[in-house]
Amino acid sequence: MTAMVKAEGVHKSFGPAHILKGIDLEVAPREVFCLIGPSGSGKSTFLRCINHLEQINAGRLYVDGDLVGYRQKGDKLYELKDSEVALKRRDIGMVFQRFNLFPHMTAIENVMEAPVQVKGEAKAVARARAERLLDRVGLSDKARNYPSQLSGGQQQRVAIARALAMEPKLMLFDEPTSALDPELVGDVLDVMRGLAEEGMTMIVVTHEMGFAREVGDALVFMDDGVVVESGHPRDVLTNPQHDRTKSFLSKVL
Ligand code: ADP
Ligand code: MG
Repeated sequence: MTAMVKAEGVHKSFGPAHILKGIDLEVAPREVFCLIGPSGSGKSTFLRCINHLEQINAGRLYVDGDLVGYRQKGDKLYELKDSEVALKRRDIGMVFQRFNLFPHMTAIENVMEAPVQVKGEAKAVARARAERLLDRVGLSDKARNYPSQLSGGQQQRVAIARALAMEPKLMLFDEPTSALDPELVGDVLDVMRGLAEEGMTMIVVTHEMGFAREVGDALVFMDDGVVVESGHPRDVLTNPQHDRTKSFLSKVL
């Protein structure tokens, strides 16, 4: 079975700053893959590399069997053109800590935007799907509200619906609940749990260890640009092997 994401010795630097120092990992289709680690360890950078927002400097990174950023012909690699990158990015949904909704559009318009603008889909088709998706994230009654009229948790659920509207094969979540008031976190995690149950492949950067334990299939602890430890969430969380993992977990659990 082709891995949904495969990283082999992935390095990324920004100028002299060496951020990812040889990441090796594999995410299987339908897997909920949780990524934890201290601030600055390179988690967001890694997600951005998967989503073509950053180019890696060394190693190989594959999404669904395809090399990210390059086309392989024989043993030669050619950089993808912007239009080719745009096509690849359609298949990957990303949800950020800050919801980044379009402020001048209603919830349903936010969800319809990419299918209509990027795929050229008919508005009626996009609207019908957006209604289904808003229903799925529990916000049918907020379709006509603007982001400023929604709570952070509601905005984040619209952001998830918006990402799903492109029918991605992979969803990346970058600390989706970190900016939320504690009482709003549960609704967002419930939506993510539902997605997991439906078999969506998800990489989730999170500090929600309860979610990782209950929903995650795999857990990776990253520190200073390397994978320190990985395994089943229950094992890593209850029986961490490395001092750095133990020390991190003692602060967040
Ligand atoms: P995490 O998500 O684990 O907190 P990040 O991937 O956001 O970590 O950042 C890792 C390091 O990379 C940080 O030191 C950050 O300052 C640096 N970094 C991230 N993006 C850039 C950039 N575009 N230019 C320079 N440095 C960056
Ligand atoms: Mg981050």
